[in-house]
Amino acid sequence: MRWFSVLPLRRKLTVVILTTCGSVLLLACAVIASFEIVNFRRTLVGEGIVLADIIGANTQAALAFKDEAAATVTLRALQAERNVLAARLYAADSGRFADYVAPGFITAMPDHPPADGHQYIGSHLDITRPVVLDGKRIGTIALQVALTGMYERIGFFAIIVSGVLGGSLLVALVLSASLQRPITEPILALADIATGIAERKDYSIRAPRQGDNEVGALTDAFNHMLGEIQQQNLRLQQQAAELSRSNAELEQFTYISSHDLKEPLRMVTMYMGLLEKKHGPRLEPEALQFMHFAVEGAARLQQLIEDLLSYARLDRPDAGYAPVDLAAAVREALANNLAEIERLHAEVEIGPLPTVAGERSQLVQLFQNLIGNAVKFHGDAPPRIVISAQRREDRWEIAVRDQGIGIEPAYRQRIFDMFQRLHSRADYPGTGIGLAICRKIVERHGGSIWVESEPGQGSTFRFTLRAEAATVAVPA
Ligand code: ADP
Repeated sequence: MRWFSVLPLRRKLTVVILTTCGSVLLLACAVIASFEIVNFRRTLVGEGIVLADIIGANTQAALAFKDEAAATVTLRALQAERNVLAARLYAADSGRFADYVAPGFITAMPDHPPADGHQYIGSHLDITRPVVLDGKRIGTIALQVALTGMYERIGFFAIIVSGVLGGSLLVALVLSASLQRPITEPILALADIATGIAERKDYSIRAPRQGDNEVGALTDAFNHMLGEIQQQNLRLQQQAAELSRSNAELEQFTYISSHDLKEPLRMVTMYMGLLEKKHGPRLEPEALQFMHFAVEGAARLQQLIEDLLSYARLDRPDAGYAPVDLAAAVREALANNLAEIERLHAEVEIGPLPTVAGERSQLVQLFQNLIGNAVKFHGDAPPRIVISAQRREDRWEIAVRDQGIGIEPAYRQRIFDMFQRLHSRADYPGTGIGLAICRKIVERHGGSIWVESEPGQGSTFRFTLRAEAATVAVPA
């Protein structure tokens, strides 16, 4: 019934009306036809019995005097009855006595008289009646009557039924076209208004009220809903304006406070340095160690502030997307990680990478964080990193693979959350913000990021980026 559900309302109503009318008419015709057939069969049997009895009465004398020729002449009178195919007269004592067979008909009537009564066999009706003289049975008359009359009548009836059905459906079609208008028109008008509103996003439009019935109630409910949406939109706009204002304030506050936080940290580092330079030789080794801890703590706090600022900066409105050559972005990210790459003799293989629409500085930072982690979390061997891209329908899937320490399955999701680290700072330095930044950058570019990893075997960080019109395909 899928075809029915996709039909426009007008057609649907027409189909419903025509199906209902057609079914009712068909049912009525079927009942009348069945009644007609039963009636006809009954009449046929009645007429056949009367005919058999008349023939029986007319052949009494011939049977009584064993005059076969006279009996045959009497039976031949059946020629006048078009429906009678054959007749056979049986004498009570000697069986078959005289026959009649309609021209062109071949019959196989039994030699001995069948039982009295009637029965339908194939396309004819067999009637058997006793021939009685003075209350004594002297023979039997059997007739075979054709049913062609009945079939002709059924055929004729079928033609009339088809005509009536066709005519009625035509009338129903014409009537339904005008009668359904008061139902469909208000609904279609409402649908038109709804489509217009959805296209133009103008929720100030209202549908005119259509009568005092269900459609009127529907229009009222629709208008009420539009009013609610309009109100909500207004509230949302106000909230959005409020939110962006407080966001801007918060951002301002973050910059100022982080700048102010960095200043005393710089002083701690600087004065510790001066203290060591001037009084170092006179200080006890333990005091020197404490100073070293203080400098290290200040450096860590500085890094944390830097990372938090990077994360917060991602919330700024887009600088606008431009085509970014990912191969160039990776080269820049490698340059930013160069010291560690050289120190650990890391090997980096870069496959063909596409150009995508994005914010260049953010994509550089994304690669920088992923490459930095791949270098940092290396195993016993020097780090080996492979960066590649694969087209997946309307997106590019970029992979950064390493052969490092890997990640336990339970943590593969969590590591993208803020401050989630799987190791102590003594084992691997870091703030736990790098992957949170990566996720935010990828999501801002309309993609997603995930990791596939085997502990001890290495990790592959994959992320997707839209392959838009600005995208230049990877050279083969
Ligand atoms: P950070 O590197 O500063 O600790 P990240 O957010 O970049 O923070 O990473 C979170 C954690 O995810 C890391 O502490 C580390 O345990 C795990 N991790 C990230 N990248 C890798 C990698 N390439 N191999 C193994 N573990 C990783």
